Amino acid sequence: MEIIKVIPRGYCQGVVRAIRIARETAEQYSDQPVYMLGMIVHNRFVVDACEKLGIHCLEANGTSRLKLLDQIDSGVVIFTAHGVSDAVVQKAKDKGLTIVDATCPDVEKTHTLIREHLRHGDVLYIGKQNHPEAEGAIGIDPRVHLISKKEDLEHCRNLHHVLITNQTTLSLLDNEELIQECLKQYPDAIVQAEICNATTMRQKAVMNLKNIDLLIVVGDPHSNNSNQLREIGKKAGIPAALLIETAQDLREEQLAGKARIAVTSGSSTPTSLTNTVIKTLETYAATGRFEIWPLTEPIL
Ligand code: SF4
Repeated sequence: MEIIKVIPRGYCQGVVRAIRIARETAEQYSDQPVYMLGMIVHNRFVVDACEKLGIHCLEANGTSRLKLLDQIDSGVVIFTAHGVSDAVVQKAKDKGLTIVDATCPDVEKTHTLIREHLRHGDVLYIGKQNHPEAEGAIGIDPRVHLISKKEDLEHCRNLHHVLITNQTTLSLLDNEELIQECLKQYPDAIVQAEICNATTMRQKAVMNLKNIDLLIVVGDPHSNNSNQLREIGKKAGIPAALLIETAQDLREEQLAGKARIAVTSGSSTPTSLTNTVIKTLETYAATGRFEIWPLTEPIL
């Protein structure tokens, strides 16, 4: 059995930066309540580790960032890497909260692109319904229209001078399909694909895998980018693809008869969790003993 460690995998720069900001904020404001507006990243292990630092992560669970602010009366609020709308910033200011912004620079770049284009026309924004990043982008202006499926275009007639852009963590394949649908309705639209470099490289690394019997993606079931990696693996023809949170989710029977197993992880997945999966698999490949490798490295 051969274990292929897909490169790149795991934490992206935006997530590393957000975690560093969260850690520094907890230290700097240790005398005040510190809140994270939503999950810092979609990974419950990271959220639990933040809670241990004294940061209260307000669970989004379909609740908008704007509404989540109702749960905070004083102290410090950290905006996650997904970014927020102007209305969220204004409400936090009105409440007298200290704002710490951990928005990823790649998300900021898309917001700037949208703002600049709004001086000329309308925006079709391809993204996931109820995803915090999409909420932040469509919250910029009512002329930013969310397209999460082609049927959404029926509600976007008679727009002018259209820009088509998108959420940074979408599947390259799904995004391209929706861009083409948008272009059918607005053939003269400007297209600015904004899937970030980290997402692109992780997805392309999976697309380029050859002769793999099983793809294991380590990530939270709620993580968009982890789910995308598994879907891309399936579309690339890998016969079996699993999404697991930790090595504890591995079963020996899943590995039976698999000669080449590839391991990757979403950009929100702690390296320590992926390492336990890799060590479990490598031990099995070398000795035939199936023993779940314990978590010994820190999550943050
Ligand atoms: S996935 Fe991309 S946009 Fe999201 S935090 Fe990472 S680098 Fe930033």
